Amino acid sequence: MTDPIERRKPLMPLDEALERLLANAAPLSRHELVSTFDADGRVLAEDVVSELQVPPCNNSAMDGYAVRLSDVALPGTELPVSQRIAAGQAAAPLAQGSVARIFTGAPMPEGAEAVVMQEDTEPLDDGKRVRIQVLPVAGQWVRTAGEDVSRGAVILRRGERLKAASIGLAAGIGRDQLKVSARPRVALFSTGDELVMPGDVPPEKMKPGAIYNSNRYFLRALLCRMGCEVTDLGIVPDQRAATIAALQGAAEQHDVILTSGGVSVGEEDHVKPAVETLGSLDLWQIAMKPGKPFAYGQVRRTNEEEGFAYFFGLPGNPVSSFVTFLLLVRPFLLKLQGVIDVTLQPVPMRADFASTRPDKRREFLRARRNEKGGLDLFRNQSSGVLTSMHWADGLIDHPAGATISEGDTVRFIPLVELLS
Ligand code: AMP
Ligand code: MG
Repeated sequence: MTDPIERRKPLMPLDEALERLLANAAPLSRHELVSTFDADGRVLAEDVVSELQVPPCNNSAMDGYAVRLSDVALPGTELPVSQRIAAGQAAAPLAQGSVARIFTGAPMPEGAEAVVMQEDTEPLDDGKRVRIQVLPVAGQWVRTAGEDVSRGAVILRRGERLKAASIGLAAGIGRDQLKVSARPRVALFSTGDELVMPGDVPPEKMKPGAIYNSNRYFLRALLCRMGCEVTDLGIVPDQRAATIAALQGAAEQHDVILTSGGVSVGEEDHVKPAVETLGSLDLWQIAMKPGKPFAYGQVRRTNEEEGFAYFFGLPGNPVSSFVTFLLLVRPFLLKLQGVIDVTLQPVPMRADFASTRPDKRREFLRARRNEKGGLDLFRNQSSGVLTSMHWADGLIDHPAGATISEGDTVRFIPLVELLS
């Protein structure tokens, strides 16, 4: 039985919970070298310094003609074409009183000061000569050496989560491998005797009270997106002994154990007492909606591998599970991988709806941007309605005890930020 005093304890504010969690997250000391091709989404464990400048030399930004300014005093000047320089070729110095035919990316010949784009010229004598129709300006259509990256520049920093542009930048200075933080090893299991795996029982044969296990699917997907190596331990029955055995097994070989369901106050909720038996429960119940029955703690390892695994018990309700993952587990996993700044930046947006019922807890409302530049609210904010998460493109961070009138400015956290 749950102690009624314990049940009445004030819930912990989300910010305090997050602060405590992050203070506990010691970045993993394991690193690995990965191909730059495979580094998207990984967290850098080194500063990346450029040994060369990009671009390596002055080059043309257009297909056209490289010219010396003093040779083109008037529009309509006709000059001989003394050389042809394509990308990848070396250029000879530009002969006085001539132009060079040049293509995008080709090195500028010594002495040339500008490029006249081909659209502003007229070829004569089968391309042997050219008429320059427009007066060039110094440096026009020239990309200067080092304008992108200078030699010795730190182009990427330790603790940065790599994205498509970062790996392109690393490749651009010749890096085929990058040192990144190891993937956190995460054991995942769901609890709930009502749960059935899609594929095991067809919809028409589902017993009364049975539901399909949706959390297992999205939590696994979210973990993979966060760069984790996931061990999926399936469904654990609502029994104390089975829960203890699953947690104990999961603590070995994993950095983190993530469960869904069974952390509330009912007699069928065995996860919390099981964690207390095997280690410690440091946080339980957060003042947020959805997501109150969130638990965090540690499960001791019993084998020769020392230490403990971090434990996260997410609520069973799918939206609660999803939202607590995004707001609490995600920053923790980033910090484990060495990301330094894991704070979110909500953006101010206009509410195109009213929400008149204040809640005692801070709420995260499922909302979507509309074409008028405001936000619409999903019609049903119940923590069991996963459609709201699918429909939404962000969460409104709504303070406890407040209401929203149409036109009010609210704090919006775009899901793209939380899912990348
Ligand atoms: P619990 O936290 O175990 O009390 O579960 C709360 C609610 O979430 C119940 O209605 C469960 O049936 C539901 N639920 C628990 N786990 C899952 C899951 N893996 N997928 C879908 N719904 C779930
Ligand atoms: Mg349950």
